[in-house]
Amino acid sequence: MELKTPIELIPRIGSAYAKKLEKLGLTTVQDLLFYFPYRYEDFSKITKINKVKEKQKVCLKGKITEINNHVTFRHRLVITEALLRDKTGTIRVVWFNQPYLAEDLLNQEVYLAGRVKRDKKGIYLSSPIQEKARKGEKPVHLARLVPIYPETKGLTSRWLRYIMKNILPLREELEEPLPEKIRQKYHLLDLPTAIAAIHFPPSLKMADKARERLAFEELFLLQLQGLQLKQQNQAQPAFAIPIDIPLIKKFTQSLGFTLTNAQRKAAWQILQDLSKAQPMSRLLEGDVGAGKTVVAAIAILNTAKAKYQSAFMAPTAILAQQHFQTFRRLFKGFRLQIALLTNELSFLNTKKITPEALLKELQAGKIDLLIGTHSLIQDRVQFKNLAFVIIDEQHRFGVNQRAKLRKTDNFVPHFLSMTATPIPRTLALTLYGDLDISLLAERPKNRLPVQTKIIDPSERPAAYQFIRKELKAGHQAFVVCPRIEAGGDEVKTAKEEYKKLSKEIFPEFKVGLLHGRLKAAEKEQVLKDFQKNKIKVLVATSMVEVGLDIPKATVMMIEGAERFGLAQLHQLRGRVGRSIYQSYCFLFTESASATTRRRLKALEKCQDGFELAEKDLQLRGPGDIYGHNQWGIPDLAMANLNNLALVEKTRQAAQELLEDNPNLSHFPLLRKKLKRFQKKTFLE
Ligand code: ADP
Ligand code: MG
Repeated sequence: MELKTPIELIPRIGSAYAKKLEKLGLTTVQDLLFYFPYRYEDFSKITKINKVKEKQKVCLKGKITEINNHVTFRHRLVITEALLRDKTGTIRVVWFNQPYLAEDLLNQEVYLAGRVKRDKKGIYLSSPIQEKARKGEKPVHLARLVPIYPETKGLTSRWLRYIMKNILPLREELEEPLPEKIRQKYHLLDLPTAIAAIHFPPSLKMADKARERLAFEELFLLQLQGLQLKQQNQAQPAFAIPIDIPLIKKFTQSLGFTLTNAQRKAAWQILQDLSKAQPMSRLLEGDVGAGKTVVAAIAILNTAKAKYQSAFMAPTAILAQQHFQTFRRLFKGFRLQIALLTNELSFLNTKKITPEALLKELQAGKIDLLIGTHSLIQDRVQFKNLAFVIIDEQHRFGVNQRAKLRKTDNFVPHFLSMTATPIPRTLALTLYGDLDISLLAERPKNRLPVQTKIIDPSERPAAYQFIRKELKAGHQAFVVCPRIEAGGDEVKTAKEEYKKLSKEIFPEFKVGLLHGRLKAAEKEQVLKDFQKNKIKVLVATSMVEVGLDIPKATVMMIEGAERFGLAQLHQLRGRVGRSIYQSYCFLFTESASATTRRRLKALEKCQDGFELAEKDLQLRGPGDIYGHNQWGIPDLAMANLNNLALVEKTRQAAQELLEDNPNLSHFPLLRKKLKRFQKKTFLE
């Protein structure tokens, strides 16, 4: 047997078990060695029989001196009763429905572990786990820290332990991927030792050390990947765009508000990056309503006046349209050529034109800013000199997509990704390790916090009354529903809700309906009417979540609030409170569950997206929030993504290594692992 041996050739596995393991993605001996337990049962202490007390969970060692089966008439149970003896005494042992034990265990030295109970005849050990003691061999299932594996149907921990024990000696053949220097500096176990200790740890402390060593390796690889990506990116040429300070001053003075310091700083960082001949890779993070759009606008204007082109990608056609209008408004008086291209619409400034005509203008360099959706990533979309790409609210925009936007000779566009998804620091350092980050931590001054309240079913009429008052004052309201059509349960559907609100609740106001199945032109019309305050109440699905900017909207009412995640609710709430008016967020829920309440309460108390994200990260763990499959990140790395100390250590180690040996030529194994890893994490 060797590390590459297929699983079905391991003694005692056979094809049935091999299939089950394959379902877990395990096909070789080596794979199996990297299938880790998630916790340990502590049976390491052996209790003397005369010290045993009722209700304790104990592990005993002794000889079975008597053992007999009998059947109860009432319950048709086979009861096996035995006596276990050690040097200090004897105790009764009882099993149910395991008659074969009687023959197997008589006169044997055994380990037993289970709960001590009491009946009429006194105390006894109830249904213990058992393992025979063999001379010169340490037991596998008892008298130690016993590994418990994530169990799937038909694969028990007991069976896995048995197999692991057999293949464990092969760990010595594993090659060490971590450089010696790093292992010593950060006090990390070598790989074979870590593998042995994670499966059969001599102490919990060793188990922790093993786990840390293995998590370190995975995070370290992630860090190397991010840093290498950054290096590679910076080795390519980009257009250097000079900073035109008078122009920017003129623009900020035209805004009608003063920039926050955070906006000023972010804009400056971006302008600095753009002025270099290396491509920028920057993430602009800012809570909803923080004002990311103007920051981008400053950089776009500066780019356009230097005669380069910019592309702005929004996640949906609606948002692309909204941004088109926003930028046209912002750049009034600056003579920019602004175009919109989605699957269904194409505009140049005020004019509707054919996509073909638009693309021709684009290639001739007559368009300064092209706004669109993913439709911008097509071969036929050719720029003359694309220098700057902005991606709004879509942090998963992959390396591949980005590569496709490199159209202008060899020049790589500067790249800015804007997101309202608050990314805790540990994630920023790992998942976004290749990006620089600008933070808009400060909100525009004129904003009041959005008053947030959980509404019980009995308070519904009062809530409607309140909303009516807001509408009468000239304000507007969103009503967000979890689904479009009923899935046969109590889910409020947008369509039904629309009917109810327009006919019964608010007949005196114009109510609109917005959901993903409307045609683009219909969506556009609804949105226009809402923006112009013709529609007073907009019933919608969660598609209004990102980016929509309606200053007069002061009420966000969310049906079935328990169905949304904290981050999503916070995003929805961010659709209101975007102006000087006091705004309100009403969370309607019929759920009485305590966890739901706790989650919604967090929202009532907290206005800060970052704080909520950190809370979510602690409450649910990164795997649940960011999804295991979504990133293709190994479980251990995922589980340690909220361990800031470890993440920072791995970052530092990766930086040190790349300084010494940028292409990792001295570390072939690391390079190999990194390649495999890259495929896993970045192919979409
Ligand atoms: P987001 O960061 O969520 O994308 P937007 O860029 O859409 O936010 O900005 C939200 C609103 O705030 C817009 O109406 C914008 O004009 C306004 N705004 C942006 N910056 C400021 C500021 N410094 N002071 C006042 N209002 C601002
Ligand atoms: Mg936005």
